[in-house]
Amino acid sequence: SFPPEAVPQAPEDPLFGLMRAYKADTSSNKVDLGIGAYRDNNAKPWVLPVVKKADEILRNDPELNHEYLPIAGLAPFTSKAAELLLGQSSAASAEKRVASVQTISGTGAVHLGALFLAKFYKVNGANRTVYLSNPTWANHNQIFTNVGLPIATYPYFHKETKGLDIEGMKRALADAPERSIILLHACAHNPTGVDPSPEQWREIAEVMKAKQHFPFFDTAYQGFASGDLDRDAGAIRYFIEQGFELVIAQSFAKNFGLYGERAGCFHFVSAPAPDAADVTTRVASQLAILQRSEISNPPIYGARIAATVLNDAALFAEWQENLRTMSGRIITMREALRGKLEELGTPGTWNHITDQIGMFSFTGLTEAQVAKLRSDFHIYMTKNGRISMAGLNTSNVEYVAKAIDSVVR
Ligand code: PLP
Repeated sequence: SFPPEAVPQAPEDPLFGLMRAYKADTSSNKVDLGIGAYRDNNAKPWVLPVVKKADEILRNDPELNHEYLPIAGLAPFTSKAAELLLGQSSAASAEKRVASVQTISGTGAVHLGALFLAKFYKVNGANRTVYLSNPTWANHNQIFTNVGLPIATYPYFHKETKGLDIEGMKRALADAPERSIILLHACAHNPTGVDPSPEQWREIAEVMKAKQHFPFFDTAYQGFASGDLDRDAGAIRYFIEQGFELVIAQSFAKNFGLYGERAGCFHFVSAPAPDAADVTTRVASQLAILQRSEISNPPIYGARIAATVLNDAALFAEWQENLRTMSGRIITMREALRGKLEELGTPGTWNHITDQIGMFSFTGLTEAQVAKLRSDFHIYMTKNGRISMAGLNTSNVEYVAKAIDSVVR
């Protein structure tokens, strides 16, 4: 029926292959620096205490049932999700310029946005190519390709400084045809951990405005990056203040530790204009149609947990505390790893480990060094040299530093 020419064997997802190899490794020294999920100092998954509380509240609610959610999702969740991004005194919200739809976590939000643009981003000679940072979260490539949108890249990571290639990025944005779609990581860039500074965001916005580009923000780490929800939403808020029409894919996987619950949201924000509210209403109506054919109704439980926390002042404060615990531990591990490498006199510079932010660090280790770390030291990371900071803890950071020292020399 389906010969190999029609359905060739697909390669395994590299990240899941890595996970499998780690699981099969029987060494007691093994370290998992591949996984993009938070781990506590004992290398264990962490259920946020505030999530445990919300779970308890929900389970004790005699009125709770398992009916379908509306197509656009749980309103007390989506409205607070928007507020979290845009802030409490957002002009866009007050002017009814925001349409929000609950999605299958961040992946589903990127997909719904991609599908929406594939169907509707056709006006007045707009360029349908989606520009992705080089590198980017690998899934971006296939999500946009799957809906038939062409993809291209803009420079992002500077190999020498292991920081942002701001000049290369601005040049590429200026050279892209007018009204191109530009995907931007709002904070804690995956896989590099390199974010533009507030000043660099202003420069990026300036170029994009001049070329009338369309920003597509992906935000999967709000509050998880710096520990400050407002700070991590700074770029998005700035672009909205600048009058851009834009979309946002929002994940609650990392900042609530709700990975498997698939709580996310897609937002469309129209530009300030007399007919902005009408535009938003029309967009919302089309998003509902797309959602209906894709998933009918989003999943309920993760959204309920997040909504319970987001709508209660005391729980919200506790969540912020939990966010500081996670981001704080990661920042401490960055300092520890850099400190040990510098102590060892490991060749090269290591300031990028603490300059970078969020779950990941692009170490600059070569593919050969990564392979050696795995074969000789049972340390697992993606072959581009990305490490998940959450895999480090006080028990293994010295071992990892010594291993890196050994393969770099
Ligand atoms: N976007 C980026 C940049 C990510 O790093 C991730 C998760 O790794 C996601 C989106 C989506 O994750 P999820 O679908 O689990 O919310």
